[in-house]
Amino acid sequence: MGKFDKYEIDLKGMRESSAKYEFMLDNAFFAAIDVPEVQKGKVNVSLSVRKTSHGFNLNFHTEGVVIVPCDRCLDDMEQPVVSDDSFRVKFGPEYSEEGEDLVIVPEDKGTLNVAWFMYEFVALAIPMKHAHAPGQCNRDMNSRLHKYLRVSEDELGMDEMGDSSDFVQEEEEVEKPVDPRWNELKKILDNN
Ligand SMILES: [Zn+2]
Repeated sequence: MGKFDKYEIDLKGMRESSAKYEFMLDNAFFAAIDVPEVQKGKVNVSLSVRKTSHGFNLNFHTEGVVIVPCDRCLDDMEQPVVSDDSFRVKFGPEYSEEGEDLVIVPEDKGTLNVAWFMYEFVALAIPMKHAHAPGQCNRDMNSRLHKYLRVSEDELGMDEMGDSSDFVQEEEEVEKPVDPRWNELKKILDNN
């Protein structure tokens, strides 16, 4: 048995006009898919297959949680994913994907493995920006990042300023001279 054998849908052998499948994509599934974007998760996929006069309609409902690194603190976070996707399948001489929603499956074989499709639906359901809820980030990493950003903005050497945390605190207390362009902008904003 190959590791993705259980995701092989036998279309040619379908006796009824429709069929339903349930898949639980777990850590083992994501490890087997072996793509760095998602390595852990627990996602349920309901697949309904409907035979039509031209071929088959496949509808996937994907719902669950994946573990991905937070944009802000890089710690693992739980990202809920929900998606509904569908495509059509027809038999033909050889395997090919025609556009977004048509897959040609070799007629002599008559089966389609949906493992990679399901992975893609999960991956596409993850928002471009994903971060912990406010206040839930790893504080250690967060403050280290802030210090790093501050210092590199100021282009100051840390060594000559002594202890870095004191330096950041002092910096926050100092009133910075106001950029005259900011005053102009503020006038505009205040008038609105
Ligand atoms: Zn975070």
